[in-house]
Amino acid sequence: PLGSSTGMPASRLSLQRVRHAYAEHLAVDDVSLEVMPGEVVCLLGPSGCGKTTLLRIAAGLERLQHGELRLGEEMLDEAEGHHVPPEKRGVGLAFQEAALFPHLSVLENVAFGLDNLPPSRRRARAMQWLEQLGMAARADTYPHMLSGGQQQRVALARALAPEPRLMLLDEPFSSLDARLREQIRDDTLHALKRVGAGTLLVTHDPEEAMFMADRIALMREGRVVQWGTPYQLYCQPQTPFVVTFFGAVNEWVGEVREAKVMTPAGVVAAPALAEGSRARVMVRPEALRVTHDGALMERPVGDVGIFARVVMAKLLGRSSLLHLAVPDEKGQEVHWHAQVPGVFLPRAGQSVALQLEPSQCFAFPA
Ligand code: ATP
Repeated sequence: PLGSSTGMPASRLSLQRVRHAYAEHLAVDDVSLEVMPGEVVCLLGPSGCGKTTLLRIAAGLERLQHGELRLGEEMLDEAEGHHVPPEKRGVGLAFQEAALFPHLSVLENVAFGLDNLPPSRRRARAMQWLEQLGMAARADTYPHMLSGGQQQRVALARALAPEPRLMLLDEPFSSLDARLREQIRDDTLHALKRVGAGTLLVTHDPEEAMFMADRIALMREGRVVQWGTPYQLYCQPQTPFVVTFFGAVNEWVGEVREAKVMTPAGVVAAPALAEGSRARVMVRPEALRVTHDGALMERPVGDVGIFARVVMAKLLGRSSLLHLAVPDEKGQEVHWHAQVPGVFLPRAGQSVALQLEPSQCFAFPA
């Protein structure tokens, strides 16, 4: 870490039992979480689940109604008690709307928060951050001369330049087009890790959260429904909501027999479910391994999967999406989606062989 120009070392952010209501509406309902120094934590969830409200509480823009908020040893906020105002928190903020100062140049915007540095070093530090975010060439222009995405990059540079002890980012990449977004995410993650501050980042995009986060808090209706690493959320989802938040899945309801459920595409383990109970099985499209049936015939006996008919095949780019008709045990057709890597475009009507990748199939009580 470079050490922050705010003079305050990076420290752990802790929110305990936070609740927040707007009039009658409970927007945040008993949330506890922490952000360690150097760690990126993403608040992920559908629109209206309370992500922005939590971030605004961490920033001090909303008064805490219930619970407590600490940064390191310092109490930032207690309900009906002590409240440290936003500007005294040593925290960097960047929101969806860039909110740059219109009368200041790009460089002056970024240098604005650097009043702890001697004037001679402010300019150099601001330039350095504009370079990091690919905006150095626009240093002398004014915000109204920039596109939304460019403004967002300047806002990120402004938030990062003081190298604060904590960064709070609300959908900071939303105005960027897809290609630029990948680049700026990458640059921002590098910058955050270099500064060594903890970061709380709001996003509704699961892929963005997986890329940026060390840990993710997945929220729904004001509550954290699962908290863990990207791997834990994606590979060990605790509820059907967590599974589907990362993308549509194939579903099947069947009976648990010897800790397994038979689906049209193969057997799925259900170790936690009671014998004879009904199970809701969720199979990610990428859990279906699809091969031309000829190729499968050459494999040893016992590795033969189940056959399906191709209804439609679409090339998405890095993968191909297949719409398949799979016969169930009664001989009726069930329609499932498979996503396979690369270019794999069998003709409609063709027969293909299926196998299940067990790590991307999940069984819950029906
Ligand atoms: P989005 O992804 O759409 O920004 P979010 O998860 O950030 O959503 P919040 O902005 O925190 O959600 O809002 C949570 C809930 O509180 C929503 O139902 C919203 O309508 C409500 N809400 C937010 N701000 C206010 C406000 N100032 N007054 C009244 N209700 C509000």
